[in-house]
Amino acid sequence: MHKGNKDKEAAVGPVVGAGWQKFATFLTHAGRQQPDKRGSFVNMPVERGSTVVFPTVEDMGAQGGHAYEHQLVYGAMGNPVQHRLEQVIAALEGGSHTQVVNSGLAACTVALLAFLKGGDHLLLPDSVYGPTRRFALGTLARFGVETSFYPPRADEATLRAHIRPNTAVIFAESPGSHTFEVQDIPMIARLAHGAGARVLLDNTWGIGAFQPFTSGVDVSIQALTKYPSGHADVILGSITVQRQEHWQALRRTAIELGACGAPDDCWLTLRGLKTMAVRLSQQARSAYELALWLESRPEVAHVRHPALPGCPGHEIWKRDFTDASGLFGVELDVGITQEAMIAMLDGLHLFSIGASWGGYESLVLPTSGGLTRHHKDGLPKGAAFRIQVGLENVADLKADLTRGLDGLKR
Ligand SMILES: *Cc1c(COP(=O)(O)O)cnc(C)c1O
Repeated sequence: MHKGNKDKEAAVGPVVGAGWQKFATFLTHAGRQQPDKRGSFVNMPVERGSTVVFPTVEDMGAQGGHAYEHQLVYGAMGNPVQHRLEQVIAALEGGSHTQVVNSGLAACTVALLAFLKGGDHLLLPDSVYGPTRRFALGTLARFGVETSFYPPRADEATLRAHIRPNTAVIFAESPGSHTFEVQDIPMIARLAHGAGARVLLDNTWGIGAFQPFTSGVDVSIQALTKYPSGHADVILGSITVQRQEHWQALRRTAIELGACGAPDDCWLTLRGLKTMAVRLSQQARSAYELALWLESRPEVAHVRHPALPGCPGHEIWKRDFTDASGLFGVELDVGITQEAMIAMLDGLHLFSIGASWGGYESLVLPTSGGLTRHHKDGLPKGAAFRIQVGLENVADLKADLTRGLDGLKR
């Protein structure tokens, strides 16, 4: 191997991908069955059910009082696989309790409903996941919650100016899943707590690489739909907290809303988690390699990948995250039209066009043209798209993108 290659590998190796390995042992063992003398399967069984039956009325009454402790009461309040998954996610994120719900979006909405009431003010980052934004401006507005938007990379003074006396929740999502702004979560938490507000974080991109509770986050949300289930066949979400008072508020709301996770989806997610460290190491490494290479292409103006030294927010990422995942943004030269980019994306062979991410397969999605922003400065100047890097051989992915970029009409 000649020297140039070796240097490049040295740059890719230790920077991105290795951090996920620290979860490998935990994830391989978490949530397994304990063997007994008669033998047992490694994986727990799926138990499907609505009714939970008891020998006596008294037994049923005794169990009903434990709805907050995740015991079996009724199917809508949880099932054994859901409860096992909740223990694993809580441990992964360093929380005390997790509530699993039927989608990542439901995780955002249930968490917001648990910590807001009529008359409160909610601060959303302008980069927030679109459906979370719509929920705030739709349902929450109907119930008397005011929402305003802060620039995701606001400095302390700017954020302070957005806080109102009735601000009850500052929501964060870092990095944004279309525009990849890394947020200064410890600073946001300090200001929020000083103002008596709580911090809710959509931690889907960071999974275990951003430890929410050491940074002052009160509630951490994940779309388990993404890397944890990992195979593009599950919709599921989680909400994790660390303090008992937050758990009481969250659990009460989840029970009132009938929020839970279907046993089969929870089981598939538990299975997905077993291989998450190895999948993510590979996907993160490939994504970083593609991001570095794309930066050198003349058609590309910016690559939005927090692990790249030139990316805005890189210093915060380096301070707060142990690794990166495999989703990043590409902004093309301003001379390239939206139509030309779309023709290029349509012509790729190995990248499907699709909205989700975190599965085994590579995807692309346009991120220019349709984004809603209050503060316009966050929008890409040229045609832009995001890449979810799958488990394909990275050389094949690079060849496919090379063909696409070479054919771009300027
Ligand atoms: C996908 C996603 C969600 C929603 O998850 P679903 O399970 O698809 O509802 C929420 N937040 C972020 C950042 C996401 O990428």
